[in-house]
Amino acid sequence: MRLKDKVCIVTGAGGGIGKATTLLFLEEGAKVAACDISKEALESLEKEATEKGLAEGLKTFILDVTNREEVKKVVDEIYKTFGSIDVLINNAGVTKDQLLLRMREEDWDFVINVNLKGVFNMTQAVAKYMLKQGKGSIVNASSLVGVYGNIGQTNYSATKAGVIGMTKTWAKELTLRGAQIRVNAIAPGFIRTPMTEKLPQKIMEQVIERTPLKRIGEPEDVARLYLFLASDESSFITGQVIGIDGGLVI
Ligand code: NAD
Repeated sequence: MRLKDKVCIVTGAGGGIGKATTLLFLEEGAKVAACDISKEALESLEKEATEKGLAEGLKTFILDVTNREEVKKVVDEIYKTFGSIDVLINNAGVTKDQLLLRMREEDWDFVINVNLKGVFNMTQAVAKYMLKQGKGSIVNASSLVGVYGNIGQTNYSATKAGVIGMTKTWAKELTLRGAQIRVNAIAPGFIRTPMTEKLPQKIMEQVIERTPLKRIGEPEDVARLYLFLASDESSFITGQVIGIDGGLVI
């Protein structure tokens, strides 16, 4: 069991990657505080965990990561309930794609709020406890698009590049007083989830053609990377951005 008794928070836990991650963490012995804005998504997660006999370690929280007060309240409650917070997976994320000249202010604000401010809110609330404990692992969802850009994703690419900046900053800052707090980011390529379901089939076919491993990623591929970075197996890795894209950008 690679996360035995570790208390892990996963945001966006009802989505494609979040759900696979939560189930894998539970299989690996973690206690998971699964947070998502969608009640239905959390109910479906609970159902699947129960069917797999994994529900014992799971507690769900309806949480909008953009709401600072709520974030603080829920994180405090998680700490009180479990007695520690060992891992934070900042996985919640959204898209609202549009070409630059057509992007509305509300499309910009929506994506910035969830993908950037949400990560800030969660990490600020959790870091307090990790600093008190003197240890922890934080993993942030960036994206290939945060490194390379993408047509139609001005808002999204800004957030995913911003996440990389925060990751490196926190890797330096949260260790200032000798705490063993590691902070890393993952940069997935195209993964089969509700987020990418919206993309035209033609685009997906082109992506597969350009990918050396000739497939789209599965949520479980990403869950295993989160697991490695959450666990003590990655104990000397911090401040890194790990690509997971089947070789798409080499
Ligand atoms: P998804 O759409 O399947 O899941 C996202 C989840 O986040 C949903 O359950 C949604 O309800 C939740 N969410 C949205 N707004 C929220 C909020 N304000 N507060 C709390 N929860 C909220 O997406 P996914 O593909 O599983 O993506 C997970 C992460 O991986 C995201 O950060 C995404 O940007 C990143 N990513 C995904 C891909 C991909 O190809 N799927 C590629 C690169 C990066």
